[in-house]
This record gives sequence, structure tokens and C-alpha cells, in this order.
Amino acid sequence: MQIHKHDAIIIGAGGAGLMAALYASKGGADVAVVSKLYPTRSHTGTAQGGIGAALGNLDDDKPIYHTYDTIKGGDYLTDQHAAKILAENAVDAVIELEHMGLPFDRTSAMRISQRRFGGHTREFGKELVRRACHAADRTGHMILQTLYQQCIKNDVTFFDEFQVVDMIVVDGVCAGVVAIELGTGEFHIFHGKANFFATGGWGRCWSVTSNAHALTGDGAAIALRRGVPLQDMEFFQFHPTGIYRMGILITEGVRGEGGVLINDRGERFMERYAPSAKDLASRDVVSRAIYLETRAGRSIKNRGYVHLDIRPQTVNRYFAEEGKDRSDFIDDATVERKLPDILDFCRTYLGVDPVHEPMPVQPTAHYAMGGIPTNVEAEVVIDAAGTLMPGAFAAGETACVSVHGANRLGTNSLVDLVVFGRRGGLRMADYVKSVDWTDLPKDAGAEIQAEFERIRQGSGKSRPGELRAKMQQTMMDNVGVFRTQETLQQGMNDLAELRERFYNDLHIDDKSRVFNTDLMEAWELGCLLDLADVTARAASERKESRGAHSREDHQQRDDENYLAHSLAQHDGNWAAPSIQTSFDKKVDLSLWEAEIAQGIAEDQQKFRPKERVY
Ligand SMILES: Cc1cc2nc3c(=O)[nH]c(=O)nc-3n(C[C@H](O)[C@H](O)[C@H](O)COP(=O)(O)OP(=O)(O)OC[C@H]3O[C@@H](n4cnc5c(N)ncnc54)[C@H](O)[C@@H]3O)c2cc1C
Repeated sequence: MQIHKHDAIIIGAGGAGLMAALYASKGGADVAVVSKLYPTRSHTGTAQGGIGAALGNLDDDKPIYHTYDTIKGGDYLTDQHAAKILAENAVDAVIELEHMGLPFDRTSAMRISQRRFGGHTREFGKELVRRACHAADRTGHMILQTLYQQCIKNDVTFFDEFQVVDMIVVDGVCAGVVAIELGTGEFHIFHGKANFFATGGWGRCWSVTSNAHALTGDGAAIALRRGVPLQDMEFFQFHPTGIYRMGILITEGVRGEGGVLINDRGERFMERYAPSAKDLASRDVVSRAIYLETRAGRSIKNRGYVHLDIRPQTVNRYFAEEGKDRSDFIDDATVERKLPDILDFCRTYLGVDPVHEPMPVQPTAHYAMGGIPTNVEAEVVIDAAGTLMPGAFAAGETACVSVHGANRLGTNSLVDLVVFGRRGGLRMADYVKSVDWTDLPKDAGAEIQAEFERIRQGSGKSRPGELRAKMQQTMMDNVGVFRTQETLQQGMNDLAELRERFYNDLHIDDKSRVFNTDLMEAWELGCLLDLADVTARAASERKESRGAHSREDHQQRDDENYLAHSLAQHDGNWAAPSIQTSFDKKVDLSLWEAEIAQGIAEDQQKFRPKERVY
């Protein structure tokens, strides 16, 4: 096996991976990025709405308000000092991106333009604030292009279309990873002092998702199998506005610009569920509301979707009712200018023109709040006490710092990538100077090679495509927006049966080595099955409703028993694991009593009861 040796190995070339690569290289480390996709095809490039930072360019805003919103949006499961770092670092991270050349939209005074997004407020919930910085509806695309150019400029080495399939752990130290070169099918070892996982999310566990096909949670599954517990896996966000049946995302920015959700009776139903924030209530609230409307028979033609309406005449009518200034009113040209990609998607995929017709939308599996637990320097922690796994780092959607708690606010993921990618990159640059190389074991890579042979040679009857579709359906039906013990048990039973077939009855058609997507997709299915399983288990253990985790049989939030992160630990047996979930990791409440305590206390009395939907 070919061995590549670099101080820092970055797995994943999305926003988190590229930011880490850039900063580790700026700090003097020799950096290699290993990515299964060509870097600029990473999912970060699809992020539409914006990146949140309290610049205060259009409204009075401060990082402390952003911190508070992040904690409240996370339904108080957010680690508070981490949220504070996120909000404070966001401001210079955005300005730094601008200095790197990111073409943000501008205000008339030529400052970075900002728009409203759900849950982002000023003065602790007083009113919505314009905080999301954006480049039309292509913000993530611009971030990715900008960071990739900077990495090239900084001489970062890229291994494109290399898929990491295992992690090498020697006496508790992460010493590198094993990857397959997709073009040849050959195995390679990447030997690194620091190994940074930035492999993104796993929306592909569900049948309706906004996530790209590549989002199969490889990094999280690999870490889980090698002894890293996964944190808060029960929290998976459903974005309320995916295109009906296809799941393709319609950014919350549409509602930020005034768009409204309408049911079959023509009612703006969010007025009932969240009287103050309405259509811009947090995503969990809006997704549940759409399901409740559907259950009550008020979805459009009773087909399980509602309308998202950004037609200027509708928006301006509601603006007038709310007493908004006429200067806020929109016209066809505003919609065309501010939401070009959304219009394009709808016209292309649906034959619907949003300037003249409403868009059919339904909740779509969108974002993993949970993942590989880390501290605020992106170092991987492996237990409730915060013990580190030396040599292992993670950031971005695959990680759980935790800044998103039980529910992420829109625009906070892009912030998370750049803030913790940068912190992790800088930390790695120091780390690689302070430690010696860990020797690789002689048989490094042997176990995963054998596993790939098993998949390739499988002579069973079950095809990966069939198993994947069944997994996605059971996750959608049983581990989706609403959950009960019964549905979760059903989900776990189905997943156990699918795993049994995956390990004992698999068959793939393509036995070759060159660009064998059949083989890689089968292996990815194994990752998805593991992550679906820990999601269902953690959801069944958390007997309360909080953020995105809504239990119909435990409808209240239970701070006494569950103001804690879940940690799901795998025993290392790939084919038939035993998984233990604990709730020993307490949430960091360090700001609770300090700066924003007053805001939280008042807010809980004032807003919470009204805005919670079951
Ligand atoms: C449609 C959509 C719109 C969104 N809009 C917004 C928004 O407006 N604002 C916001 O804040 N958030 C938004 N999000 C969320 C946000 O974009 C993502 O959470 C974020 O981009 C994830 O970035 P990442 O760097 O963690 O991973 P990604 O960008 O997903 O990149 C993952 C990388 O890992 C690599 N990889 C994966 N597995 C392997 C492997 N086994 N071996 C090697 N490489 C591997 C891939 O090649 C890729 O380079 C949106 C998400 C979606 C899906």
C-alpha cells in the first residue's frame, strides 16, 4: 500500500475542511486534503441563504444577541461558552472572507448586506434582526470557491477523489487514515500527526432530503467504529421547505424576504403556531406545523404539502397588514435579483414560476446537529469528562461542538465551518510541532481491505439499492419529525434486519476495481445504517421533546433528566455491534447565570409557551 506522510491530513474539502487546511498551512504545517469529491463539488457549495454575523450593518446588533439566539434556538442544549465563541468569532470570520475576495451583496452604503432569518433577533428576542450576510442565494458556493483558491495559493496538497474508509488508531492515538483511490481502486495510507474529519452530514438516511448523494456520514461512522462516541445523534433537523417529493431545498431566505406559508384554505397558518415570529419561527416549529396542518387535512389537495408564496402581491399585502413601510415592499425584479437560483430550480424541476405561482413544499431532512464530539479547538473528545483522542480533530457538520444544541438556526452552519475550521487549523499547526510521529502498525489497513473484499465478493440476494430505499423509508416514517416509543422500536427492528442482510446476504453487480461506484455505494450504505441505528437508539432513550426531537409520548422538555448530551458508544463489532447510550455529559451553562441570564429568564416566560408546537 502506498503511504503518504503529512503533518496534517484533512478529510473533506467542504467549508470546514478548506478553512482548517488554510489555517494549518498558514501556521506552518505540511497539509494534505483528501476528498471523495472534487473540492468545489462539496455540499457547502449548495448553501443558499447566508452566513450569520452580528455586523450590525442594517440593524442594531451585537454578538451577545447572536449568542442568546443560538442558545435559545438550540432549545438550551447548546454549550453556552461555545455559542459565545461562535457569535464573537463570526464577525471577524465574515470580514476576513470578504478580504479574501468573497463577493457579498452590498447595502446602498456599500457595506455587506444582511437579511432576516428565523430565530435571529436583537435584544434577546425583541424583534427579528438582519444578520445573514449573503451573496445572492449562492453564499456557500462563493465561500467554497474563495477558500479553495486560498488553499491553492497556500500550497495545500489535494488528493481529489480519494475516499477515506478507515481510521488508524494506535494505543488510543489517531495516527492516520486509510483511503481508496476511486480511479484505480487501490488502497492508500495517509499517515498524519493530526487527522481532521470534515466529511459533512448524513441526510441520505432519509428518503426526502435536501442533502447531496455524497452525504453518507462516512467520517462519523468511521470514528464511531473506532471508539469515538457520537453525540446528540437524535437531533436531526427537518427543514420546512423542501420541494415537494424531491426534497431540494428552498432557502429560508425566501421567508426572510417576506415569503409566507399557506394551507389549502388559503390561511397563513404560522400565525396560529408562532404569533410573533410567524413564518420565521425556528425550523423545528415550522416543520411540525406543516405536519399538523397535513394531519388536520389542510395540506394542499390533502397531499402532504403546503404552498410557499413569494409573489409580490401576496407579500406586499401581508407587509401592509403588518404596517411595514412601503420601502420594504418587493416587486418582481427584487425576487429575480435576490433569489435567482431558487427561481431557476423551480422553473427547471417543477415548471413553476415563483414570481407568478406559489411553490409546493414539504419538510425535508436537512442537517445533523449531532456528530463527533469536540471541544472548542476542534479536538475530538471521547467521553463525558472531555478526554481527548490525541491526533483526532473534527469540525463542520460531522462534528458536534455543540453550538447547535437540539436545533440549528439558519445561517449558523456556515459560521460553524469557518469559525471552528479556523480554530481547528490553528490548533493543528501548534499540535504537530509539539508531538512525535506515532508509528503505524504493520497490518494497518488490513481489516478494511478484508471488509471491501467481503462486499465485492458477496454472493447473497440483497442489493444495496433495495436496502437503502428500505432504510430511508423506515427513517422517514419512524424516526422523522414526530416520534413515539412505538415508531422508534419499529425503526430499530427494521434497521436490525437491514444490517443483518447487509452483512450476510449482500450482492453487488460490478466486481471491477476502476471507479467502482457500486462498491463504494454499498460501503456507504453500511455507514448510513450505523448512523441511522444510533439515531433511532438515542431518540428512543431521550424521553422528552426538545428542539428537533419531538416525542408525542413525552411532549414536555425535561431539564431535570435530560439537560445533557447523549453519547452513543459502539463496541467495535462491525457486523453486530452493541451500542450504549449515556446522558452523563452535562450541557455547559456557564453564561446562564451571567451576561444573558436575564434575557433567558424573561424569554422563557414571554415566548416559549406560545411558540412550542406538538
Ligand atoms: C441545500 C443546502 C442548503 C444549505 N444552506 C445553508 C445556509 O444558507 N446557511 C448555512 O449556514 N448552512 C446551510 N446549509 C448547511 C451547510 O451548508 C452544511 O452544513 C455545511 O456546508 C457542511 O459543510 P462541511 O464542510 O461540514 O461538509 P460538506 O460541505 O458537506 O463537505 C464534505 C466533504 O467531505 C468529503 N468527504 C465525505 N466523505 C468522505 C470520505 N469518506 N473520504 C474523503 N472525503 C470525504 C466530501 O468530498 C466533501 O468535500 C445548507 C445545506 C444544504 C444541504
